[in-house]
Amino acid sequence: MQAKLNRLYQFKKESSQRSYHEGVIALDELSRLTEMLKSDQAEIQVRFTFSDSEYDRSMVKGHVIAELSIECQRCLKPVLQLVELDFELLIDASDNIVQISGVDTLYSEDGNIDVFDVVEDELILGLPLVALHESGRCNEYWHVSDDVQTETDRENPFLVLKKLKTKH
Ligand SMILES: [Zn+2]
Repeated sequence: MQAKLNRLYQFKKESSQRSYHEGVIALDELSRLTEMLKSDQAEIQVRFTFSDSEYDRSMVKGHVIAELSIECQRCLKPVLQLVELDFELLIDASDNIVQISGVDTLYSEDGNIDVFDVVEDELILGLPLVALHESGRCNEYWHVSDDVQTETDRENPFLVLKKLKTKH
């Protein structure tokens, strides 16, 4: 069991210490993301480091792994999707720096950055646009004609009677 992460980090202190954090965020803490999913039960594993960047701004780099329950586009039932991504963001960088570096920025509030918000934004962007069960797996939820046929035969009372008769 990994440690629970804080939501807020004082980025100046963290980057001067080049700190490293790892832990989990419960999905139900991320309400915007949860609204897009079929279940709010999941643990999101996160690790990240603070550092100084060559652009005279602090930076946070991290890695996120989550198994999220998304609606299958074929049968509309939940399908588990592994989402794994890296992020790299400058903190409070000007538009100019963002253009030169090609790295996005996030903005601090009262000297803090909200790591939960960062992870939530990244996962929303990283969600697959179309999620599907593996080929054939939708059938478990979606009875196609073959399955229905087999089931009908099995439960056909006349067939059951016929078998009983043959036995005696
Ligand atoms: Zn499906």
